[in-house]
Amino acid sequence: MYRTVSQLDSVMGILAAFFPDLCSRVELPNRSIQGRPIYALRMRAGGGGARRGVLLVGGMHARELMNPDAIVELMLDLALSYLNETGRSYGGASWSALDVKIMLETLDIWILPCANPDGREFVMQQVGGDRMWRQNRRDNPGTPCDGVDLNRNSDFVWGVTGPATSCNPCSSTRSYLGPTPFSEPESKNIEYLCDTHNIKVFADVHSFSEFVLYPWGHAPTQTTDSTKVFTGLATGTCAPLTPAGYKEYMTPRDFSRYRTVSQRVADRIRQVRGRNYVLKSVFEVYNGTTTGSCSDYVYSRHIANASRNKTYGFAFETGPNTGNDVLSFQPTDPEPIKRDAKAGLLALIQQSICAIDFIGTSLFGLSVESIRTIRDRMLANTEAGRGWINLFERVQFPLLGIVLSDRTLTKEAATLVRRVKTLTTQHKKAIVSKEDVDRGIAFLDELAKRTTDKKVKIDLSTVRRFLKGAGGQDVEKVIAKLGKSKPAPNKK
Ligand SMILES: [Zn+2]
Repeated sequence: MYRTVSQLDSVMGILAAFFPDLCSRVELPNRSIQGRPIYALRMRAGGGGARRGVLLVGGMHARELMNPDAIVELMLDLALSYLNETGRSYGGASWSALDVKIMLETLDIWILPCANPDGREFVMQQVGGDRMWRQNRRDNPGTPCDGVDLNRNSDFVWGVTGPATSCNPCSSTRSYLGPTPFSEPESKNIEYLCDTHNIKVFADVHSFSEFVLYPWGHAPTQTTDSTKVFTGLATGTCAPLTPAGYKEYMTPRDFSRYRTVSQRVADRIRQVRGRNYVLKSVFEVYNGTTTGSCSDYVYSRHIANASRNKTYGFAFETGPNTGNDVLSFQPTDPEPIKRDAKAGLLALIQQSICAIDFIGTSLFGLSVESIRTIRDRMLANTEAGRGWINLFERVQFPLLGIVLSDRTLTKEAATLVRRVKTLTTQHKKAIVSKEDVDRGIAFLDELAKRTTDKKVKIDLSTVRRFLKGAGGQDVEKVIAKLGKSKPAPNKK
């Protein structure tokens, strides 16, 4: 019912052997404590060089048996959908063949389905194993207790303790954080993947409780005091976080992106069969400090070191709390929960695509840096500006499908991206001409005609109204206006 470590490895081996154009399997540099090889699989279709990467990790905690299976099955599903040009449904949540094609042709999808193979083997071992084992299989010298909790071992506020983060190898919560940050080969593999690939979005899939989680874990999250940054906190103390009452900063733009994307994931999971996944920060799970978690670590990297890429780190907790721990971790019938998980992951993958990046960079080799700069440096700083960013992120995926299904529209989209790029790289006083406005409006009208989604139609008409008022103005003024007036839909 649950795949053994070697069965998981062989699914990846089969995918790589049968579909070499789609899948490649790599052995990660660090073998497990007991010497097992650990594999990751990269999935991508089509050509092109550098892409945005998504990394999905499962099996970090040994007893959470469902998620490694769900992750490899998702890759099988994607491979078959892509090759047969069919859509994919999990219960009431569906994706079209074109959706799948766009995902595989725009992203590098990485999976590390079984991050902790020794632990999984120990859980599945009929004689002498432990069904409730959570950690890896490290022998901790000088104590009768084995294992390090790999999700407390990352180099992020490491060594600060809380309700489920402990310096004691024999802790009842099985959450011993290890002798040093990244002391464990299995957690070091996550660091390696982030160091060597352009990972923009990360999900660590756990069980149970039906949550979609985002940072922070060591402290409550706040968006107002940018002087509160974790790099100044004392670590390795084996004591609770100091100062008391500390709250960690997150930019309003990142906070709103985390909430928007998590909400989309939860909405898609609900479509499957009605389960309600709740959005929370990692801190809120135990209502107390959790340090050294992978999802916080990946997101913290660009703050600790500005030369690194930003990675949005999420964690899922799949499956309900049934009141019985063994059955919550290892349900008798995991199939419905795996479908929920696959829908959530597919939603996350979809949300990782950037339409402008794709149209500009991948299809037409244009650098869209100037557009990105306006988004991140100017619009992201005000509430109204973030409203426009959210609007764009909401509509981009449904509209990208429409644009790519028609060559004329694809060409027109590229022309418009090129024109916006020209305007935004020119002098700040470059004028948005009447022709620019007419052309933009004609494009929006064409999209509105072709979409059946009422919410998307409303968003398009909001943009249309704004664009109408932009003719004859200089770029600086238009951007300032976006930053000042929220995208309010038409009342009538
Ligand atoms: Zn877990």
